[in-house]
Order: sequence, then C-alpha cells, then structure tokens
Amino acid sequence: MKPFHYACSICSTTYAQDDVIYTCPVDGGNLDIVIDHIAIARDWSPARIASNPDPSMWRYQALLPVSIPPANSNSLRTVGGSPLFNAEPLARRLGLNHVWIKDDGRLPTASLKDRASAVVVVRAMETQVSPIVTASTGNAGVALAGMAAAAGLQAVILVPESAPQAKVAQLLVLGAQLALVRGSYSDAYDLSLDVSEELGWYCRNTGYNPYTSEGKKTVSFEICEQLTIMADPTHQNRNWIAPDRIFVPVGDGNIISGIHKGFKDLQSLGWINRIPRLIGVQAKGSSAIAQAFDIGTESIDPVRANTLADSIAADRPSDGLRALRAATETGGAYVTVSDEEIISAMVSLARQTAVFAEPAAAASYAGLVKYAQDKDIDPDEHLVILITGNGLKDVQAAIQAVDKAPTIDPTVNEVRQLLANTQNRT
Ligand SMILES: *Cc1c(COP(=O)(O)O)cnc(C)c1O
Ligand SMILES: [Zn+2]
Repeated sequence: MKPFHYACSICSTTYAQDDVIYTCPVDGGNLDIVIDHIAIARDWSPARIASNPDPSMWRYQALLPVSIPPANSNSLRTVGGSPLFNAEPLARRLGLNHVWIKDDGRLPTASLKDRASAVVVVRAMETQVSPIVTASTGNAGVALAGMAAAAGLQAVILVPESAPQAKVAQLLVLGAQLALVRGSYSDAYDLSLDVSEELGWYCRNTGYNPYTSEGKKTVSFEICEQLTIMADPTHQNRNWIAPDRIFVPVGDGNIISGIHKGFKDLQSLGWINRIPRLIGVQAKGSSAIAQAFDIGTESIDPVRANTLADSIAADRPSDGLRALRAATETGGAYVTVSDEEIISAMVSLARQTAVFAEPAAAASYAGLVKYAQDKDIDPDEHLVILITGNGLKDVQAAIQAVDKAPTIDPTVNEVRQLLANTQNRT
C-alpha cells in the first residue's frame, strides 16, 4: 500500500493508515488523506504525466492513495478523462469571454460519483473487505454498483424510496443488492452506518469514507491539465494553468471539498500558482451550507431538504465543514438557486451546448447565471461549470421542464404546420 497518513479536518490530529478507517475517533471529523508531496514532486512532474497516453483518472496515480486497478478491470480502469470544452456562445450571452464546461455526465455510470466509487472499490480490493455498502440519493449508489460490478465485488445500496426511476433502473441492471428505504437520505445514511458497524461491511458513504474525495479531486487535475494543453499544445509550460472560478453543485459537500483537496495537492506540489475561487451552488430548498456561509459561521444547522434536484438534497451535509472552507479559503462564495431556476438552466444549457444535465448538475449553470447577474465578474476570467450528472438519470424532471410534444396525423401538411407554429412562438 502507498505511504500516506490521515489528518482530522476538525482537530488536526494525525493518524497512521492502520489506526482508523473512516472518521476521527475523537470528534467524528472527516479525515483528509495527506500524501507525501515532497516525495511525489521528486519523482513526478506535469511533463511526466503528460507523456502518459492513458486519458483516465489513473494517469494521476502518483497523487492517489490507492494503486492503479488491474488492466482487466473493465470500466473501472477507464473512469475520468471527461471532456472540457469552451462554451463561447453561452459565455457571450452572459457578457463573459471564457466559460468552460467540464462534462462528467459522460463517465461510465453517467455521474462524477464514478471517480469516488472507483477509488473506494480499489481500496476495498487492497484491504480485501466486502461487501461494500453505501447510502445514496442515487448516483453514489449507481457508481458503486457499477464499479463493484467491474471489479467483481459485491455492493449493497440503500436509497430513499423517492429515488428517481432511472437511477433505480441503473441500480437494478448493474446487479447491486438494492433496497429502497422508507424515509429520507438521512435515514438511509444512518442505517448504512449501523449496517457497516454491526455487520463489518465496508462503508462508502459520502462525507464518511475518506477515499471518496481522493477520487473526486482528480477532476481538478483534469481541468488544469486540459486547460493547459488547450492553451499550450506543445507543453512549453512547465506548470499547469488553473481557471479563475469553478461553479460546483453542492449537497453533502464532498465534491467541492474533493475539488479543493485536488487544488491544494497541486499547490503543495508547486504545479499550479494559485487555487481557483470555488463557488458552491445549492438549491434554495437544501441550503444548509450556503446559510452558514452567509452568516459567517462554521456551525452548520440542519435543514429539511426540499428540492427536485435530488442529488443535492441533504438535510445535514455530511461534508459540510470542508465544503464551507472550500469557499472561504479560496475567496469563493455560495449561491442558492430555486428549482425554477434549475429547471430553466437545464433547458437553456442543453439548447446552447448539447449537454443534457440532471437537475443537480444544471444547478452549477444556474449558479453562474445568477452570479454573473449579481456580482462583478471580470469578463476575461476563465470560469468552469462542472456538470456532475447526466439528464437521462431523471427523465421525470426533464419532462416537467419542457412543453408537451404535439401528436400529429402522418401528413406533410401537419408537419409544415408544426414549423409554422414554432416560428410564431420564437
Ligand atoms: C452527488 C452529486 C452532487 C453533489 O455532491 P455532494 O458531494 O453531495 O455535494 C451534485 N450533482 C450530482 C449529479 C451528484 O450526483
Ligand atoms: Zn478530530
């Protein structure tokens, strides 16, 4: 196993690898995995990584706390490498010059959670614990089911019974042992902790298992490396270029804290000059972290989450403290958006860029729209919108967002009429 140790995000106590599995025994704080930046910087460089033809997140194996999965581990070996592209027409409408979209809806199970579940599954292979259990609003479970299937491990997934149908379908098809829990995500969460403790199963829970953010941090590496290659195809640059701001949808807060961790790693290695401002976007109906940010406190009061963006519905964010610091320590901010704003962002994002995002993922674009209206952004800043999940995962929400399709008789005249009607409307 690789050399690293853990450090508590609350009391800063450090622990050796064999001393803890999940959270700080003293205060329950989330553990950061501290990799050996000096040793890594001695052997590795952006140029050495650039010479690796493997586009997956495993190209950053030197910065990960787990080993690279075997070549025959199916799609587990392919996670990452999602496209980053320039959305100039969309940028112009907001009075901006450089908006980039990072589309993680294209990962094997169609959400960013694959990055986290991949690392957790490799850790489970290394430590030979199974089955793996997780509570999930949907995507984390789907990603675990997928990565476990790819690795031939058993997974048990606990989701609230309100989970969107398409995610339930993915879970069932991927063959995990799925249970729909009567209650909310918080109820499923508490149950999974009890199950893990009493039955000795390995728990993947977000904001509990320290490996999830290590997987999620790879999106920061990719954003920097991809921006650098586009700005400088011949790799003259010895270091990586970081964007100015990144818009990240936030529920439990583990994606934004993982992204922050990724940039802190890069800064410690001396591979970037500055960390981007991280802008967390929460749904108005699930905004525990945004409220704490506004008040300026590190104590996060629970809410009763109520939003159609199921992937960012969290009563008590399990990684709230680190998620809050991701904004405060980077000069970032939190913004909240209503369900109406999310739905309309979902449609306008799709129509401008061909990216069909699930509601939680469209929230990052809704956040940018709002932020660009309310705040002064220098139009020359490089902004990244992180798309965390694919729109096909929640068809119900999508259908609500658009007009009904007309039903017609099979005649040319009716088709001609259609277009005339559309042109009248626009
Ligand atoms: C999980 C998820 C989020 C939020 O991530 P947190 O770590 O809970 O903040 C956002 N969008 C999608 C699509 C997700 O699956
Ligand atoms: Zn602690």
